[in-house]
Amino acid sequence: MAAPILYIVIPCYNEEAVLPITAPLFREKLRQLTEAGKISGDSRILFVNDGSRDRTWPIICDLAQQDPHFIGIAQSRNRGHQAAVLAGLMEAKDRCDVTISIDCDGQDDINAMDRMIDEYLGGCEIVYGVRSKRDTDTFFKRFTAEGFYKLLAWMGVEVVFNHADYRLISSRALKEFANFKEVNLYLRGMVPLVGFKSTSVSYERHERIAGESHYPLRKMLALAFDGITSLSVKPIRMVFFAGLIIMLLSFIGILWAVVAAFMGKSVAGWASLACIVCFMGGMQCLFLGVIGEYIGKIYLEVKGRPRYIISDRTEATGEDPARQP
Ligand code: UDP
Ligand code: MG
Repeated sequence: MAAPILYIVIPCYNEEAVLPITAPLFREKLRQLTEAGKISGDSRILFVNDGSRDRTWPIICDLAQQDPHFIGIAQSRNRGHQAAVLAGLMEAKDRCDVTISIDCDGQDDINAMDRMIDEYLGGCEIVYGVRSKRDTDTFFKRFTAEGFYKLLAWMGVEVVFNHADYRLISSRALKEFANFKEVNLYLRGMVPLVGFKSTSVSYERHERIAGESHYPLRKMLALAFDGITSLSVKPIRMVFFAGLIIMLLSFIGILWAVVAAFMGKSVAGWASLACIVCFMGGMQCLFLGVIGEYIGKIYLEVKGRPRYIISDRTEATGEDPARQP
């Protein structure tokens, strides 16, 4: 069994302040893993420049020139963290056996990579890095983030609690992941859908080494909203049930209006008007819900996600990558 080729995929956006500090750390980790015989000497560190406006790309080019273990790709423009990670993973998937995606700011503990690789060598295709505690976050960020994970779980989206985008994915799982054609990306909600044997390792998240966070509240909210609406149609279903309840209440309103009219407790014309208003209101909500249900179906169809993924076969098809460790 040859040691697997590892690609460490690192998205970078305006990171001139941290890259010169963290790049040698990643290089050192790669050397340690290689020396321990856990990964092949052909392993690489793949930087994805996400349309940075500062000196990030020249720095990456310099690194690549000095040491062939560094390679870089650049996005045509800034497309956001999720798209940058995806671009890197897709670039890596045919060149390596296993990938680890990690931020470039030194917040995620690179020493967790050893355990990730061990799990991979033990047969796991996906290993989630999970933050053991959130001490370095403000109370607000911790509270909103944990509340959000609970909301997602309630919406029926399977996510790994306290896992961001620090994870190991084998090239085998990535090839299946490539079939998820959606453009609204929420990687941490999509990766569990691929299946395969997975596990998680915990690590401590530190402060940023230098530079500033690119995730202000506005971007965090946008990512959260994407997470719900790209993976769940539950909000539409909630409209449907609200419509159903309003419809039932409307019928009670109609009964009440008719009874009031017969008992002479209303002005002429009031009962008929009240009936019409109740009836139309209830119907409209219900019908909107039904239409929503179909839009939800269309929405899921348009994504064109794979309907099944085969993970094992009793006989070799010849297609099965022989490079499996
Ligand atoms: N990033 C990116 N494109 C963006 C924003 C961020 O590629 O539009 C990268 C950034 O360089 C870093 C990672 O995504 O490697 C996480 O960003 P950041 O550290 O700013 O977020 P935080 O850790 O504060 O949530
Ligand atoms: Mg960060």
